[in-house]
Amino acid sequence: MKSLLFIGLAALNLVQYANAACAGAYGQCGGKNFQGEKCCNSGYTCVVQNEWYSNCQPGGNNNASNNNWNNNNNNNNNNWNNNNNNNNNNWNNNNNNSGSSYPKGTNLQFYSQCKNPNHWAMTYDDGPTEFADAILDLLKQKGVKATFFVLGKMYMDMNSSEWTRIVKRMYNEGHTVGSHTFSHNDLTQLSYNQIINEMTQLESGIQKAIGKKPAFMRPPYGSGNGNQNVMNALKAAGYTAAITWNVDPMDYSNGGDTNYAKQVINQAKGKGGIITLNHLKYGGASKQGILNLASTIIDQMKANGYTPVTMEQCLGMSAYQ
Ligand SMILES: [Zn+2]
Repeated sequence: MKSLLFIGLAALNLVQYANAACAGAYGQCGGKNFQGEKCCNSGYTCVVQNEWYSNCQPGGNNNASNNNWNNNNNNNNNNWNNNNNNNNNNWNNNNNNSGSSYPKGTNLQFYSQCKNPNHWAMTYDDGPTEFADAILDLLKQKGVKATFFVLGKMYMDMNSSEWTRIVKRMYNEGHTVGSHTFSHNDLTQLSYNQIINEMTQLESGIQKAIGKKPAFMRPPYGSGNGNQNVMNALKAAGYTAAITWNVDPMDYSNGGDTNYAKQVINQAKGKGGIITLNHLKYGGASKQGILNLASTIIDQMKANGYTPVTMEQCLGMSAYQ
């Protein structure tokens, strides 16, 4: 469904964060355009990853100019050390969901980029749809693990066996499944209880499909950052990450223009970890069109040296409650 137009190109490189609190494990603590508090909770040190991004690493590593993740003593997550290269042969990395090795997040934060500057998380909103199987086939063929923020009702009903089958397939094939709320309302227009209801209603369907409740969500229209009602409700419902994006090919408004997608991807090159926004259906979408766009994005990101990761790898924390 349409994302708000003002969150378009302007969102590129815009780091969205809550304010008035030091960051916890792996939270952002600095970088160009960063609006939040430039500090970490005790036991963590702010480490510069690149011009756009610094985050809180466990322990007392005070080397703020250290751009190399391999040197950070991150005992929770050995996977990061293996993915930090541009060798395209490593695209088929092991990423089954048999059990998350990532620590659970402790607080709700908004994120719009991956922590590792070489990582790219491909995200799909608004599914499941009739195009989901074709995209899943393509991702398998390309060796890309993505993230699907699913809805309880829009194009497909959560109570249908087809919805459950597709969500289960997403999860079983190593993709991360997150919440896009039950019915795609702008959360800033809802009461606290209505937001809780949006989250818990969808959780019952996801739980039925994959046996877990998501801890990651994408707010419809990308809204809610800094809105205390939204953030309090999401946190109370057990969510640790509200995830927006920093590269938007705008498929919902341009019909899946592959040239435009290449352009925004190339503009983002070298500016830090990337989260791309796509939709499993949009106005004018056809099976071939949606596949062409996905292929273009994957090939261009690959050419630009990025490693595709799930949101779980992108943020270094468990995607499930
Ligand atoms: Zn949406």
